[in-house]
Amino acid sequence: MKERTYVMLKPDGVRKHLLLEVIKRFEQNNLMITNLKEMKLTEELIHEHYAHVSDKPFFPKLEEYMLSGPVIAMIIEGEDAVNRVRKLMGPTNCKEALPGTIRGDYGNKDDENCRTYNVIHGSDSVENAEIEVNRFFPELKEENKSLKKTIR
Ligand code: UDP
Ligand code: MG
Repeated sequence: MKERTYVMLKPDGVRKHLLLEVIKRFEQNNLMITNLKEMKLTEELIHEHYAHVSDKPFFPKLEEYMLSGPVIAMIIEGEDAVNRVRKLMGPTNCKEALPGTIRGDYGNKDDENCRTYNVIHGSDSVENAEIEVNRFFPELKEENKSLKKTIR
């Protein structure tokens, strides 16, 4: 089914100049980047977006990481977009991510940081994708409603 998902190049991905590389991988897999912007996250946005891990011991490090520089926020559309983007990204832990996946090729592989500095985020379900698109692109609220009907 055609869907859309929220993708975010994290601060280390921006610092490593991975934007064109990740866009190329998505486009070569017939996924379309419909919206893209640079933004600096706030503490509030990070707490909201990572609420599911905010009680974990690694959260302060995650927060510092996500505040360490700008991110690139994207909306990506295509057939089975949520799962296909997750497959192209690879698993959370870069050391477990296979070569050929974005996290496997570019994530931080040292023991201490392999679960944190993983260069990219992608929504984990269609339901969360909608929540995250609205969280990071609130300016598209009206457009978002009609986009659902006119998905490419
Ligand atoms: N994270 C971390 N340590 C962990 C697990 C996750 O620092 O043990 C960070 C990592 O940057 C990850 C984010 O928290 O991308 C959100 O975790 P989630 O389980 O949602 O992983 P994802 O969906 O990004 O693969
Ligand atoms: Mg997640």
